[in-house]
Amino acid sequence: MMEYHNGIQANTLLRRLEEDGAVAYANRIPVGFKLKPVPGQPDLRFDAALHEEIEENCEGHFLLASHKHTNVFIQVSLGLRFVGTSKAVGFELYKLLREKELLDQIDVVIGPPVGALSVVTALQYAIDSPKIEAMYLNRDAEGKFRLGRGFQLKGGKRILLVDDVFTTGGSLRKAIAACNESVREYGEQCNFVGAAVVLNRASDPEMFRLATVTMPLVAAVTYPLRDWDESACPYCARNIPLFALE
Ligand SMILES: [Zn+2]
Repeated sequence: MMEYHNGIQANTLLRRLEEDGAVAYANRIPVGFKLKPVPGQPDLRFDAALHEEIEENCEGHFLLASHKHTNVFIQVSLGLRFVGTSKAVGFELYKLLREKELLDQIDVVIGPPVGALSVVTALQYAIDSPKIEAMYLNRDAEGKFRLGRGFQLKGGKRILLVDDVFTTGGSLRKAIAACNESVREYGEQCNFVGAAVVLNRASDPEMFRLATVTMPLVAAVTYPLRDWDESACPYCARNIPLFALE
């Protein structure tokens, strides 16, 4: 293993993601981080007192895909566009998988479109095993996940699920369904050894539970998400402008 990997800790990785412009706080929205104010919100730029208050508390107010509101927005893929961060993430996940004794059980790494792609590659390079296959899922016209053309998972291959961000596990559940669907015609079920994600935003899942499967989850960075419905959002209550990804 190469020397620059040594000693990289999860908090260092978070700092790296910040340096790479993948983390947005209201007072520190990185250059190139495409956010736009959500219509109907007050305008931050014209309220100096409010701006000052937000800067002081390092708080943001962002709209999530779930329609809930949060105070820190992390877009992992923005960090992974740089090879240094990609290598660091790959090695951190490799190390965690080794510690949990999952490494020797993996035949295939695969994850939801499209966030998993760069993570799958980073991890495959870090593990550097000639036996491990990297595959992808894509979306059909209805948005359902499907195994990429030409790949096959039949024959009891052991699968490590990979993704950039874990929040509720919804994407991983869809990935599991797609993998199982791809082997159904052979009368098989897929064998999942665990899940590896760059960023875990769930508050408490060492293990993540599915309808029929429980599997270990490893994360390079853990940063629990605080989110609120609009009606309960403390930032809405203070009229702090809301931003969404462009
Ligand atoms: Zn809000």
